[in-house]
Amino acid sequence: MPTHPDESSYTAATVAVSGGRPPREQGSPVNPPVVLSSTYVSHGVPQPGEPLYTRMDTETWHPFEETIAALERASEPGVVFASGMAAIASVFSFVPVGGVVVVPRHAYQVTLGFADDLAARADVTVRRVDVADTDQVVAALDGADLAILESPTNPMLEVADLPALLDAARQRGVLTAVDNTFATPLGQQPLTLGADLVVHSVTKYLAGHSDVVLGAVVTDEPELARRVRGYRTLHGAIPGPWEVWLALRGVRTLALRVERSQATALELARRLEKHPAVLEVRHPGLESDPGHARAARDMHGFGSIIGLRPRGGREVADALVDAVRLWVPATSLGGVESCLERRRRFPTESTTVPDDLIRMSVGIEDVEDLWADLRRALDRVPLESSDGAPA
Ligand SMILES: *Cc1c(COP(=O)(O)O)cnc(C)c1O
Repeated sequence: MPTHPDESSYTAATVAVSGGRPPREQGSPVNPPVVLSSTYVSHGVPQPGEPLYTRMDTETWHPFEETIAALERASEPGVVFASGMAAIASVFSFVPVGGVVVVPRHAYQVTLGFADDLAARADVTVRRVDVADTDQVVAALDGADLAILESPTNPMLEVADLPALLDAARQRGVLTAVDNTFATPLGQQPLTLGADLVVHSVTKYLAGHSDVVLGAVVTDEPELARRVRGYRTLHGAIPGPWEVWLALRGVRTLALRVERSQATALELARRLEKHPAVLEVRHPGLESDPGHARAARDMHGFGSIIGLRPRGGREVADALVDAVRLWVPATSLGGVESCLERRRRFPTESTTVPDDLIRMSVGIEDVEDLWADLRRALDRVPLESSDGAPA
């Protein structure tokens, strides 16, 4: 499937640039064309693989689908979806009515909402686990149909022992899917660690500019790929041509953006840790972080998300989000612009996430400008909680 014969030896950073290009022929375009057509000329009995109707397949998806597969070291082309949630929904379809699914207690909250919905309408048992607690996860895998893992988790940044968990799942015949949105394929490639499926919110780092919503599923197994594709055709959660084009355009600069934002995130986490207005900083790159040893062993880089708890509780956290000028108060992550939000402002966020936790998505702005903005805001917020007690 590689576009070029030696593509399989390229690093992910190179594949992001070289993947999904048209054949090198005299006069051919360097970028793949966008085809705007819902239907294709076709008479007689359609032959397998023949272009027919765009909800089923269109050549406009293929360059992105080949590139995401090459990034994740998959032998099958990826399956692009209208959103990350549409991709995750396709993975949940592997859980039968009355089945059992294992999910992290801290994870993307709509993933958890989807699991709860299955519990309510399809008699599915949902086992919520602390993914950092390997024994607990392994115990929950017994008799399960599917485990959806996230590592690092959203928004707590817990790091799972993915090689051990994926191995334990395989031994028990449990299908596994890893949401690799936070780490990106540059940080880890879960299929190479034994995962059956990888899902992405392409919306985040892969597209990278906060201007498109898109998702993808990647797998090595042809039968799983066929079923995920079949699900997409049945449910119709297909992306538009411009979204896929924008995402591939974003992927071209993935390595530059991720390297820059990761380096900045680690530097900011170190500085935040020393600031007197800060209670706790979570970032797997910090030596003090509970996930550090695993992340150092299994990941390339530590990602660009920071969990920040200021002293003084929820009101101070809200005041901090209001006080910044360069950082954007917004949900979502993985864009070129740095964003932050207090996660528990969503009533649906897990109650084991601290009320004062601010999730920070570090972008590619200059580190000193980002720090100056944060420090100004931290210096301004009161170092006392609202009841007047010293924090
Ligand atoms: C945003 C996100 C999703 C959902 O993706 P959408 O593209 O918004 O549908 C899933 N998982 C993680 C980890 C995310 O951050």
